[in-house]
Amino acid sequence: MEYKVYVNNITLLLKQGDITKETTDAIVNAANEQLYHLGGVAAAIAQAAGEQFWIESNTIKHVPTGSSAVTTGGNLPAKYVIHGVGPIWKGGNEKEEELLTSVIQDCLIKADTLQLISIAFPAISTGIYGYPLDLAAKTIINTIKQYTIKLQHIKHIHLVLFSTKDFNEFVSNAKSLLE
Ligand code: ADP
Repeated sequence: MEYKVYVNNITLLLKQGDITKETTDAIVNAANEQLYHLGGVAAAIAQAAGEQFWIESNTIKHVPTGSSAVTTGGNLPAKYVIHGVGPIWKGGNEKEEELLTSVIQDCLIKADTLQLISIAFPAISTGIYGYPLDLAAKTIINTIKQYTIKLQHIKHIHLVLFSTKDFNEFVSNAKSLLE
């Protein structure tokens, strides 16, 4: 399942699938501040990326919530992994929206600075971190909408949603915010 829309000369592709299989230049990991890669998409990425990726992740000691850090992709098809640390949902009054916006922006800046053409994001914060899916979809899509205008190199952004439910939620928000 796929849905494609154009935003400021960039292709935004929403798809259902496994982000570890993406062939974009970079994939984003929904990481924690320690880059422990314990559960969810982080564990799947680390498993597929292999030992060198673990070693590289261990050299990065701490990534503050709302920002990101870059490693190579190890055995993944993607050349880089951008480890974005989203906020833990605490009810909505603890700067969650600001922090989710900030992490998406930071990942886009890192990829653009590396002069990458394509990047794939998972639904950061909506798994173990408990961010409500509809609110996360709105914030992620709006951030992409507002930020793409500033990008020099990135031409393709993928949002890779793991479940059909997540895919449908993101598509309905993309239709209302971008069409
Ligand atoms: P967080 O701790 O930021 O909430 P999670 O990894 O728990 O991160 O979940 C983020 C999203 O990634 C969830 O929607 C989850 O279903 C999804 N996810 C889990 N595995 C994969 C995968 N292999 N590819 C894409 N998305 C995945």
